[in-house]
Amino acid sequence: MNEAFRRVFGTYPDGVWAAPGRVNLIGEHTDYNDGFALPFAIPQTTLLAARRREDGRLRLHSAQVGGPVVDLAVADLVPGAFTTWAAYPAGVVWALGEAGHRIGGADLHFDSTVPTGAGLSSSAALECAVALAYDDLYGLDLGAPALALLAQRAENVFAGVPCGVMDQMASACCTTGAALYLDCRGTVHEQVPFAPEAQGLRLLAIDTRVKHDLGDGAYAALRAGCEQASAVLGVTALRDLSPGDLPRAARALPSHLLPLVRHVVTENARVAEAVSHLRADRIAALGPILTAGHASLRDDYRVSCAETDLAVDTAVGAGALGARITGGGFGGTVIALVDEDRAEAVGAAVTAGFRAAGYRAPQLFPISPAAGARRIE
Ligand code: ADP
Ligand code: MG
Repeated sequence: MNEAFRRVFGTYPDGVWAAPGRVNLIGEHTDYNDGFALPFAIPQTTLLAARRREDGRLRLHSAQVGGPVVDLAVADLVPGAFTTWAAYPAGVVWALGEAGHRIGGADLHFDSTVPTGAGLSSSAALECAVALAYDDLYGLDLGAPALALLAQRAENVFAGVPCGVMDQMASACCTTGAALYLDCRGTVHEQVPFAPEAQGLRLLAIDTRVKHDLGDGAYAALRAGCEQASAVLGVTALRDLSPGDLPRAARALPSHLLPLVRHVVTENARVAEAVSHLRADRIAALGPILTAGHASLRDDYRVSCAETDLAVDTAVGAGALGARITGGGFGGTVIALVDEDRAEAVGAAVTAGFRAAGYRAPQLFPISPAAGARRIE
């Protein structure tokens, strides 16, 4: 990273920071409902070589984008001014300044192994790398949860994506060998040890490499639907409902909102169930919870698609203990929990299934809980 930075900016950086992508084990579309999630950091990481500048310029370069350096003045940053990738890192700098922190310019060079748009949160990795580098370069000492909230604000307001806080909390706060039990009504979180390999299990990521365009508008519509349902039911957020409230919800809600509520309520219950299994070291018991979570996203929340359904059905059919789409949906990545001696067969079955359906070959890779955002040099 040091040499790459020098080739772009002509000098060496002050340091190098890393922020990972994430996989969410269970708890999807719950974060913006003040609910619960259980993500973990993956080895795929965004690296950032950075150098502080004293002249108020913010210069950005990404190995994934290439092209000329994007050169901005920190003082000129306003939401809505950028529609390119630069909105994510510039948004973090804007959010820090808007929150009253004394920050200035920097030269930032990114290089990443997190696939973009695959539901593995490359956007949060990018943001959290910037937040952490600025925290160090400008001596802010804000702590990971506060940096995650600023990164989310950057994505919401500056990049215009109405995401919840799960992705940024995962990238900023996860630790090796653990999943992050996250209460999204705030940033309270707990590291729950999660080491599938120790029990002869593997988690397989299946990146379907499809991203359906309807995702962007649909996400905002789903979020609005949840807010509408909360208002009808008289609660602050859907997190305040439990499965016992569903019959009342069924009587009170229009038919298009009930399935959204049913997903969020049952999904929060699945997170609680998954955490109790993890605490008792019963990792195999997660399998049916994953598959039930997928069915809920497919049938009630309706954010799955033909490719992700095929990946889940084929993986389970070939002996996976459970599988589900992870991330916001409309394509992206499926995770499957498999016995180590079935891992190869499950992967081969999914690849063959995609070929038979005429789909692009999926990208398969094993995943296990890796480190959260940190300084590496
Ligand atoms: P996801 O977060 O699931 O990968 P998003 O659509 O939220 O998908 O974010 C992807 C966007 O983030 C990309 O289109 C790009 O604008 C930006 N991005 C992520 N990683 C990089 C990178 N290494 N370099 C430049 N832009 C990136
Ligand atoms: Mg994202």
